[in-house]
Amino acid sequence: MMRTRFAPSPNGALHLGHAYAAMCAHDLARQIGGAFLLRIEDIDGVRSRPDLVEAIFADLSWLGLTWDGAVLFQSTRLPAYDAALAELKARGLLYPCFCTRSQIAAAGAQPGPEGLVYPGTCRALGEDERAHRVALEPHAWRLDMAGAIAQTGPLVWHDMQAGDQAARPELFGDVVLARKDAPASYHLAVTLDDAHQQISHVVRGADLFAATHVHRLLQALFSLPAPVYNHHRLLAGADGRKLAKSEGAAALASLREAGADGLALLEILRKPLLPSGISWAEPSYTSP
Ligand code: GLU
Repeated sequence: MMRTRFAPSPNGALHLGHAYAAMCAHDLARQIGGAFLLRIEDIDGVRSRPDLVEAIFADLSWLGLTWDGAVLFQSTRLPAYDAALAELKARGLLYPCFCTRSQIAAAGAQPGPEGLVYPGTCRALGEDERAHRVALEPHAWRLDMAGAIAQTGPLVWHDMQAGDQAARPELFGDVVLARKDAPASYHLAVTLDDAHQQISHVVRGADLFAATHVHRLLQALFSLPAPVYNHHRLLAGADGRKLAKSEGAAALASLREAGADGLALLEILRKPLLPSGISWAEPSYTSP
């Protein structure tokens, strides 16, 4: 059976782009009698807010989008993330990293798909120094990307928009899997949870297209099935730039509270022609 999901992070108000993402995942599943699931990505303890979780439920109800089964909160999944991290440590694929952002920049790191590619400084530390510093200093845990790729070999994944893709996780370098300030990184949590929820089709915005290279690698490392991906195009504002929480895109909650009709709004988004003030951002199905 087809199973899709919407996986918002409660760290800001949902905007029209989220309504579109949720609708794409919902409609893909519902059109063929599949299931649509909801997951709240709330492991960013500093930025996640319970009132925003309530707003997500209210926004989705207002839009007429109903989900199947219980909501999965990532904050209940910490033991699963810990177990996965322990497994990678035992396989020699994870190492502690003590570097700050400025140290990474100063080490001559090059830009990658999601910020600077880690130059591998802490990979070279000896066991004794690692053990000593882990006990004393804040640290993240990074994947030894070359070692991981050596274990999985070449991988492919499929996107419903862009077709078959050769996985290129090496573009990301030694990604962080457990953060200094959070028990698991986005990449680790999303990969494990999509498998846990038996998601067959991951529907999400094209801004996460490149991240799928890392997710495919993690699936292979943990012998998890590879879902099909559908990275949909993104909505842009009047300035042509994609809608973003950080840019103060109009919140669904404001429209809802102002008495707008959520069902009518979704009907508009279902049509290819968008109202004035909103456009499609240029789709980007390439990995930088
Ligand atoms: N939680 C992520 C976000 O709100 C989405 C994760 C995903 O769909 O893979 O941007």
